[in-house]
Amino acid sequence: MTIDTVSPRKPPITDLLRERILVLDGAMGSMIQRYGLGEADYRGERFRQHPTDLKNNNETLSIVRPDVILDIHRQYLEAGADIIETNTFNGTAISQADFGLQAHTYELNLAAARLARQAADEFTRRDPSRPRYAAGALGPTTRTASLSPDVNNPGFRAVTFDDLERAYFEETSALIEGGVDVLLAETSFDTLNMKAALFAIQRFFHAGGRRVPVLASVTITDQSGRTLSGQTVEAFWASIHRAPLISMGINCALGPDEMRPYIEAMSAISQTWISCYPNAGLPNAFGGYDMTPRKFADTVGEFAHNGWVNILGGCCGTTPEHIAAVREVIKGAKPHQRNAPIQRSYFSGLELLTFGGPPRAIQPRQRERSPRRRVTRCAPLRPPSRSSASAPTSPDRPGSQS
Ligand SMILES: [Zn+2]
Repeated sequence: MTIDTVSPRKPPITDLLRERILVLDGAMGSMIQRYGLGEADYRGERFRQHPTDLKNNNETLSIVRPDVILDIHRQYLEAGADIIETNTFNGTAISQADFGLQAHTYELNLAAARLARQAADEFTRRDPSRPRYAAGALGPTTRTASLSPDVNNPGFRAVTFDDLERAYFEETSALIEGGVDVLLAETSFDTLNMKAALFAIQRFFHAGGRRVPVLASVTITDQSGRTLSGQTVEAFWASIHRAPLISMGINCALGPDEMRPYIEAMSAISQTWISCYPNAGLPNAFGGYDMTPRKFADTVGEFAHNGWVNILGGCCGTTPEHIAAVREVIKGAKPHQRNAPIQRSYFSGLELLTFGGPPRAIQPRQRERSPRRRVTRCAPLRPPSRSSASAPTSPDRPGSQS
């Protein structure tokens, strides 16, 4: 019996995106912490003899504690999420190698996809007029292909494009076999890693794999307005916009207030639909998140009522309460209308380069500049040391002079 024969019928997600703003779920990691799991819980019977500690390797829970992952999915669906993400943020062989589980990545992704699909199907059956979708999450991995982690050897790379592409291909294959409705390559801090993911997905489709819509989401690392590999939102868009994406967006690192100018910029330039799922504010001194559901929803609700977004949810520190508040606040908001193609030549570097004057869609707005604050991301990344990883600053970048 295949997934398609047992799952309820539902319209393609693209049909819904034309009609209304869809709600994405919130954080998985901080929800797992609520269960107070110990080393033994992360190992279960399956990995009892594993030689490496597995605590905090959330992906193993899809196999050894599926009850926890299903419970979290159901809480987000109950809160009103239209789309839930699989528990696979660190699901590539590259990230799982940190725990010695690289040989088990297919199994981890397959299990996670089946759980998300099961939960989404339950709620779709309960109310077929509100179909729910499972998104296969492809995280950025714990390595960066564009930057050296060794300040004394700038040419060194801890991972190659081909390594990343193979790992993403494997993850894609498992997620699709597990029945996801869409793929979401997310939290991209390095555009080359993102390209490896998008390339792998296309290779999978070309090889005859089941085709699903693809979504991409970038992370603006801090208030420099750039990714870790140094690109602006517009340059990131130019780098990947030839991939057949249904949506492009921004998630993680920033709270909704700090994300505002960047999501506005993305909605002004991209010809895709727009997704947005910020953290619950910036982290406090203990690394926690304090932004209340009300405050979070008020800010992202404004994005919705401004017509900037099509998919709205939460990243680190957000909870089902945040998602329920988002669901409430978007009532009456119209979905973002996709932009017409830009009729000028444009190229990506660290910034966007255009010929023939700036196209209508990329008139920069003056961005407010505020002091840099510490940010964190979904997962413990291993960025290069600060001296080599700092996003380059450019005094003549549009919008940086305010
Ligand atoms: Zn996050």
